[in-house]
Amino acid sequence: MSEVGWDADPGVAGWPGLPALSGDLRADVCVVGLGGSGLAAVGEVLRRGLSVVGVDAGRVAAGAAGRNGGFLLGGPAISVHHAGAGWGLAAALELYRQTLDEIAELARLLGPEVVRQVGSLRIAGLPGEPADELEEADRQAELADCHEQHEVLREHGIAVRRYDGELGAGLFLPDDAAMNPARRALGLATLYGGDPGRARLFENSPVTAISAGRVQTAAGAVSAGLVVVAVDGRLEVLLPELAGRVRTARLQMLATEPVAPGRLPCPVYGRWGYDYAQQDQAGRLFVGGGRDRFLDQEWTTRTSPTAGVQAWIEQAAARFAGAPVRVSHRWAASVGYTEDARPLVTEARPGVIACGGYNGTGNLVGPVAARAAVALGLDGVPPPACFSS
Ligand SMILES: Cc1cc2nc3c(=O)[nH]c(=O)nc-3n(C[C@H](O)[C@H](O)[C@H](O)COP(=O)(O)OP(=O)(O)OC[C@H]3O[C@@H](n4cnc5c(N)ncnc54)[C@H](O)[C@@H]3O)c2cc1C
Repeated sequence: MSEVGWDADPGVAGWPGLPALSGDLRADVCVVGLGGSGLAAVGEVLRRGLSVVGVDAGRVAAGAAGRNGGFLLGGPAISVHHAGAGWGLAAALELYRQTLDEIAELARLLGPEVVRQVGSLRIAGLPGEPADELEEADRQAELADCHEQHEVLREHGIAVRRYDGELGAGLFLPDDAAMNPARRALGLATLYGGDPGRARLFENSPVTAISAGRVQTAAGAVSAGLVVVAVDGRLEVLLPELAGRVRTARLQMLATEPVAPGRLPCPVYGRWGYDYAQQDQAGRLFVGGGRDRFLDQEWTTRTSPTAGVQAWIEQAAARFAGAPVRVSHRWAASVGYTEDARPLVTEARPGVIACGGYNGTGNLVGPVAARAAVALGLDGVPPPACFSS
């Protein structure tokens, strides 16, 4: 069995695969990276009636896009009131609205079996009794932060309700959703790859060189008027000129054997969003977190899970489950962080637009950024203020 819990889903395990790139191809646009963001770029190019070649180093969503928590949360990576304080409330709210639109678009494209529109819960702390006074104080501070977030969202017409229930206290965000992230990416690849006259997608084709108008792999090359690099983690490895603007970190997760069905009615995140869990219909939990407890060691481009972080997540999983858990899968993947939590959409080289640096929350922000990258590359439209260009 694969190490990634999501891959046990028959819809993922049965993926027939795509060919590797060989020979020389030509297209209007070449997209490097077929995660959720790269596939959104592919969709945007097709919507404009242009041709596109997409290449990925491994399987579609071989990176974080197929290995993440599957939360579809409206808004920036940091809460909207904090983002607003840093980059202006109008910019933060604009990103919020675009990510909510992205949920609606994904639901339209992939249907309710992939996109479960169940809302999300932000709770203060973790479920269960605080272990000590320190945890209790942190929980109270987080509860106050939840109230601030509630006020800003309510004032700007974004749906939010206070939550006080079995899992703790915090906020319920009814417009959010959940998914198996690998199914989202493979579903989009199936949809877009079904138009082979205009979209040609390739797996197992690591890109070795990128220059204006040309993308090189070991066995092939693509000539294109525009190149979009849609890679979140390890972006600075592929495009070293972005080192200093984006920095790679590892995030880790695990999956459990089924626990009490219906324990988590929707994705739940607590402890300032550092720990998070969702439950699938079979009762399994998919739980991640702990990066803040191991900050120094998690600034790495490695993608193997570690004992310390996994032990942290395991105890968090038991709190989310309300009972001890049995772990079935453990995994990790790379994501990109930026200094001010604004994602990058930038012309890295002439004719090469890069997007990435989603600060741990790129399932929706990534596609929004990828569309902005296409607009920058094809129309010369500067990215909105919520992005760093
Ligand atoms: C454990 C974990 C949990 C997370 N939880 C959530 C969550 O619940 N909600 C959320 O919104 N976000 C979450 N994230 C963040 C989210 O997964 C990412 O921000 C998002 O998936 C980024 O998607 P992407 O398509 O931009 O990039 P990636 O997923 O990084 O995809 C880039 C693709 O580029 C390919 N690639 C890289 N180098 C090359 C090359 N040289 N040649 C060709 N292809 C290349 C990779 O193989 C990969 O498939 C989480 C991340 C992790 C790791």
